[in-house]
Amino acid sequence: MFSIEIRGIVQGVGFRPFIYNLASSSGLRGEVSNNGYGVLILLDCKQERADEFIKNVRDDKPPLCEIDSIRITRIKKTKSFDGFSIEMSEGAKNLSSHIPPDIAMCEECERELHDKSNRRFEYPFITCTNCGPRFSIIRNLPYERKNTSMDEFEMCEKCSQEYKNPHDRRYHAQPIGCHECGPKLSFFDNKGNIIESENIIDKAAELITEGRIVAIKGIGGYHLVCDATNDEAVKLLRERKQRPSKPFGVMVKDIYMSKNIAPINEKEEELLCSNRRPIVLVKKREDNALSKNVAPNINQIGLFLAYTPLHHLILQRLNRPIVATSANISDEPLCKSNDEIMRLRGIWDFCLEHNREIVNSCDDSVAFVECEKTFMLRDARGYAPLYLKLPHKTDKKILALGANQKSSVAITIGESVVLSPYIGDLGSLTSIEHYKSHIETLKRIYEFEPDVVVCDKHPNYESTKYAKELAAQNQNIELLQVQHHYAHILATMGVNGIASKVLGVSFDGTGYGDEGNLWGGEFFVCNLESYERVGHFRYFKLLGGEMAIKEPRRVALSFLFEIYGEEVFNLNNATLNSFSAAEIKTLYTAYKNSLNSPLSSSCGRLFDAVASILGVVQVCSYEGESGLLLESLYDENVLESYLFSIEDGEIDFSQIFRQILDEKNSRIAVSKFFNTIVEIIYEMHKKYDLPLVLGGGVFQNRVLLKLIIRKIPDVILPEMFVSNDGAIAYGQAIAAASEFETL
Ligand code: ZN
Ligand code: ZN
Ligand code: FE
Repeated sequence: MFSIEIRGIVQGVGFRPFIYNLASSSGLRGEVSNNGYGVLILLDCKQERADEFIKNVRDDKPPLCEIDSIRITRIKKTKSFDGFSIEMSEGAKNLSSHIPPDIAMCEECERELHDKSNRRFEYPFITCTNCGPRFSIIRNLPYERKNTSMDEFEMCEKCSQEYKNPHDRRYHAQPIGCHECGPKLSFFDNKGNIIESENIIDKAAELITEGRIVAIKGIGGYHLVCDATNDEAVKLLRERKQRPSKPFGVMVKDIYMSKNIAPINEKEEELLCSNRRPIVLVKKREDNALSKNVAPNINQIGLFLAYTPLHHLILQRLNRPIVATSANISDEPLCKSNDEIMRLRGIWDFCLEHNREIVNSCDDSVAFVECEKTFMLRDARGYAPLYLKLPHKTDKKILALGANQKSSVAITIGESVVLSPYIGDLGSLTSIEHYKSHIETLKRIYEFEPDVVVCDKHPNYESTKYAKELAAQNQNIELLQVQHHYAHILATMGVNGIASKVLGVSFDGTGYGDEGNLWGGEFFVCNLESYERVGHFRYFKLLGGEMAIKEPRRVALSFLFEIYGEEVFNLNNATLNSFSAAEIKTLYTAYKNSLNSPLSSSCGRLFDAVASILGVVQVCSYEGESGLLLESLYDENVLESYLFSIEDGEIDFSQIFRQILDEKNSRIAVSKFFNTIVEIIYEMHKKYDLPLVLGGGVFQNRVLLKLIIRKIPDVILPEMFVSNDGAIAYGQAIAAASEFETL
């Protein structure tokens, strides 16, 4: 007899019925149950048949299932079996089991959704074992209906029969329901008046066609939706949301509709159609039908395919793309309840919602494909929670608190790291509350209490303050602070399973450096244990400190002061023209006396300086704007780069900046600037002759990534992961595990 223990995403994904069907169809005897680690199978058979069984499990596993490990051991025969059965292990709490992410509607459900003869015809919440909400509805482990927000809905007789039948494709599908027993839609205007209509979905589609803005409750939160081809509607949404130019995501009915908007390559199509359904950033077609207001001044567009039955039904009626942007106001968290969406009633005209509670909010994920590789800009719906490997063994339970922007948090369970979805920026009281609630959720679900809390070195990060608070409250908690840019490199090393000595290039926005300066253009020789800073951009003064992050012109001005001193007042260029004479005077005094002008080596800020001096943008309306705008100006045909020098590991950017000032054509300047950044990395790579690892927000830039991959094909990148501050919590967890390694 054999005992087979399987770990990974094996609960809530139809794994036990799959095992049951596989075993009984091959005439095997035994049983399957959940145990404390995953799924346990007992098989009463010969070795060869057990081996063959395992091979079939690996080959044919259900689509949502992910196997981490299979351990087979020969055991003494303790009982005999008549056939094969599923043992219900009530109460066997499986805290190391993985929670599956929310998954887009599968093809079979889609067929039923449109099948007039099916009892779930046009049921907006149709799901099965292979699709539907998971993470967003779970309160506690194990993943069973009573531990989800579906517990309020009592199954009707028909649903209950499907749920109990191991041969049914809805066997143990926790969110199962139908017109009779499941969640229901409601539709109202912004005064809270219920809109009576024979068919609510028809009515909502009609209003969207008329140019109205409709809030729609999805899986992990609400979207604000309008007709993406209607200039006026999109403009109105921008005004009401106070979002002047940050690109909106666009949802389409299917892949065919997306191809009218952008030329989609094979890899992008695969990603768009995957059951995780992220927003995919693609190059826009010149002749697309979208309103110019959807993604102004940039050549990319974020597209995603309808992923819930409700979205399908709406888009089927509209037959045109819609703007579907997260329902929140600037720094605030995504709305997930009726109370929260009502607070935004000044933005929407109508709201289409349902009565299935969203327990854990989860934004749309964002990804892009470059050189056949997939990169994430936001890890959330469809991916979260993300399970990552911890390179060290540690007995400590680690809570990693991440950074301050694009924050996410992580906990460690044995050798895995569980990473929360993207939480957002910690810029307001509500967002900090929201952040803490995500931590509480992880603690509750995994019955987790930390021994170690790890955070950034930045004293003003809300996450750092919270870490210190936790450590002060409990003397048994150890506190560890990890340098921001080293954490970026550790994260890339972690996702790639790299433990050797490497050259880490951390090009980023500003982060707190070891001596208190604002780093962000760093070269480290490092491994998982420690780092040595071997290079960086020469410090420049960041006029106004972190306020300069939103104002590229302040960075350019700093370089102008450095190069020209008082002569600056006789010059005429885009940067200077954006200030009044008085402002320049004040800033010059601040510059000379180093008032509120911390030193920085941030590479992200250099992109800002270039964007400002070329007149591309002076004050950003969203993060990363200057990089996106510069990408749009890059010309592949320009192969030259600027002269640069590296002295004792210091790269003097003002030398490069001078050459940009002399350039007549801004496309050429932008292209040579990109090429120069690549040459600098290449130069350092040659010098140290170590595996090259990249991390940090600057590497979200597609042009830069493409150029580096071409120049250094074996470069190690955060593939299938984020390179921005969403990666920090993972890097911190790795650093803490290394610090508290159990030998
Ligand atoms: Zn399905
Ligand atoms: Zn039912
Ligand atoms: Fe960062």
